[in-house]
Amino acid sequence: MLRLQNYINGELRGPTNGKHFDNVDPSTGKVFSEIPDSQEEDVLLALDAAKKAFPLWSNTSLDERSRILTKIADLIKEQMDDLAFAECQDNGKPLSLAKRVDIPRAESNLRFFAQAITQFASESHRTSDSIINYTTRKPIGVVGCISPWNLPLYLFTWKIAPALATGNTVVAKPSEVTPVTAYLFSKICIETGLPPGVLNIVHGLGGTAGNAIVSHPEIKAISFTGGTTTGAKIASIASPMFKKTSLELGGKNPNIIFADCDYDKMLKTTMHSSFANQGQICLCGSRIFVERSIYDRFKNDFVEKTNALAVGDPMDKSSKMGAVVSEAHMNKVLSYIQLAKDEGGTVLAGGERVKLGGRCEDGFYIKPTIIEGLDYQCRTNQEEIFGPVVTITPFDTEEEALRMANSTIYGLASSVWTSDLSRAHRMADKIEAGIVWINCWLLRDLRTPFGGVKASGVGREGGQEVLRFFTEPKNVCIQYG
Ligand code: NAD
Repeated sequence: MLRLQNYINGELRGPTNGKHFDNVDPSTGKVFSEIPDSQEEDVLLALDAAKKAFPLWSNTSLDERSRILTKIADLIKEQMDDLAFAECQDNGKPLSLAKRVDIPRAESNLRFFAQAITQFASESHRTSDSIINYTTRKPIGVVGCISPWNLPLYLFTWKIAPALATGNTVVAKPSEVTPVTAYLFSKICIETGLPPGVLNIVHGLGGTAGNAIVSHPEIKAISFTGGTTTGAKIASIASPMFKKTSLELGGKNPNIIFADCDYDKMLKTTMHSSFANQGQICLCGSRIFVERSIYDRFKNDFVEKTNALAVGDPMDKSSKMGAVVSEAHMNKVLSYIQLAKDEGGTVLAGGERVKLGGRCEDGFYIKPTIIEGLDYQCRTNQEEIFGPVVTITPFDTEEEALRMANSTIYGLASSVWTSDLSRAHRMADKIEAGIVWINCWLLRDLRTPFGGVKASGVGREGGQEVLRFFTEPKNVCIQYG
């Protein structure tokens, strides 16, 4: 049985209390590894190492930091197959998806920020003939990075890479639901020769290890991705200490389809935006609004394609969908399907657990599910389900589509399908979301700001935005002459 270890001060070590808890492979329902049940004392060890490493790391040349991050990227690439296997086993996602998306993106995160830091600049303002202002941007110190289970290594490195590139030292906690690739990543950091204490990875539960990171006054900034309720808790602890926080939270994203769209492209992409990673991507479009004139055509085609989507062993190449991440999450998603029925919805496809045979007989699988006939304001259409469940709703006018799209507390991402250029711009302007995809979904350019509005978060990741987040600006004003 694989026993994970914390990565503190450049070394792998068990938790101080010697305790571990089970990690379950969702595709089989069986325990396959043990996770350190780290407590505050382990976070304090990590913090101590990060504090000691900070003076050296923050003064390391940009070239050297860039070289080390690039080397980590190279090793991720080299170990692609092992990392993809681990992600598949830990999370239940298809191996093919982990190979195509998760691990290549983790590699890109390191490579991108290794380059970005060499291009990062701060401003200077000439105020008058005798006054000049310039801005310095220095690393903050020790920062905390906390990540979720849906895209484990992808989102873990999305935070760590910019935090390290800007010269901070880090205490990080991956999700306790999917910690294995973060553990393998710590081995890669050792192999790379990352100086001890620069990155420290503490495994454990949110309420203990995570809370210790958020609560400690010497951890100066928190970059968090996860649920909105957890985000609110973190903000309530971090804000009174005036910590910088970047909170990337939940979503309930609209996918708005007009009759004049490129129908085939829309249908193909909507299959992905609905069910990729078993619907467990914060950017998935879970509320599909369709212009009434094509509603029946769309409904028939979408149901047919969804019924043909193969749910199976994630290790199997032919599986398009694997397991959802845990038994608890499966039960949560199933309870939302029941809620949708109670609210008067009609299940057009799926709606139940899938029982597979062989090694997967105790795994956590749900059929991709389409529901219609619900009011846009009901709980099923307002609350985040975060599974392979979408609703479809017809609309008659642009205004009606917008009203329904903007009706939730969330505002992370959205998609609009139309060939009308003016309408595309109008919709992009009026949708309350941090990201609007027009005639596409999940096309990512790592230079763009990433994040949500309303209850989907505070702050932005990506590109210059995150480099600014992980640095403290200081204005220097000089009068001369
Ligand atoms: P979660 O909030 O339960 O956990 C996220 C992380 O926070 C985990 O590492 C967990 O251990 C830790 N945590 C939990 N309680 C904590 C506490 N009190 N103090 C400190 N840390 C704590 O979220 P999850 O279930 O892992 O992930 C699913 C959620 O993440 C969904 O809501 C999804 O929309 C969201 N998400 C958002 C984005 C985005 O970019 N906006 C991306 C991916 C996932």
